[in-house]
Amino acid sequence: MTSQAVASATARNGGNRRIIVMMGAPGAGKGTQAERLAAELGLPHVSTGELFRAMLQSDSKLGRKVRGYVESGGLVPDDIVVAMVRDRLGEADAAEGVILDGFPRTLAQAEALDKMLHKAGASVSAVLYIEVPQHMLLARLSGRRICTKDDQHVYHVEAMPPKKEGICDVCGAELYQRADDSEATVLGRLDTQLPPMFEVIDYYAGHDVLFPVRGDQPPEAVTADLLHVVTARGAA
Ligand SMILES: [Zn+2]
Repeated sequence: MTSQAVASATARNGGNRRIIVMMGAPGAGKGTQAERLAAELGLPHVSTGELFRAMLQSDSKLGRKVRGYVESGGLVPDDIVVAMVRDRLGEADAAEGVILDGFPRTLAQAEALDKMLHKAGASVSAVLYIEVPQHMLLARLSGRRICTKDDQHVYHVEAMPPKKEGICDVCGAELYQRADDSEATVLGRLDTQLPPMFEVIDYYAGHDVLFPVRGDQPPEAVTADLLHVVTARGAA
């Protein structure tokens, strides 16, 4: 699509550009659902994880800045993340809308997103929050077990249990839990990540664009609920 075509597509869409934000705690299945929704709605799935990986390969000015922060082990500041997303939203395939996954992660990012969309005559169409009770997040995240002989043999105590508890189906070796997956580590991670997420959720609730969907059901049912919300919202 030429830049002229993008401009006219944006003008044609006006406020109907579908900007959908996916929210959910680690373990809620946000990435998978974003992927499915993108395919169903024919919109690009814009994940900040992927944007970061692309930036690390890129020799652009922004890419070099991002690399500097990542290599020094520092957090990438909000304004850099916002610039990265702004660039991505300006690309041709995003003219009709996007599914944002991993952004905004902070209140400052949410406000910056509103500002940049407002300038383009658009706004956030819907914020889809996949709600999963904390005890279930903990079970999902801490239930992973790995084979001591081959780390490609991965199980989950609830979702994908081995035939015999604690033993690999393939090689009969013992299974173990990575330190990263221990309950204490997972709880620590949730304690760090959830408060800023709830700030963003409260912000969107205040703007009447927040739509919670139950995440404690089979993935197909979650997808169906998400699609239902987007269609009812007229964003589809
Ligand atoms: Zn094994």
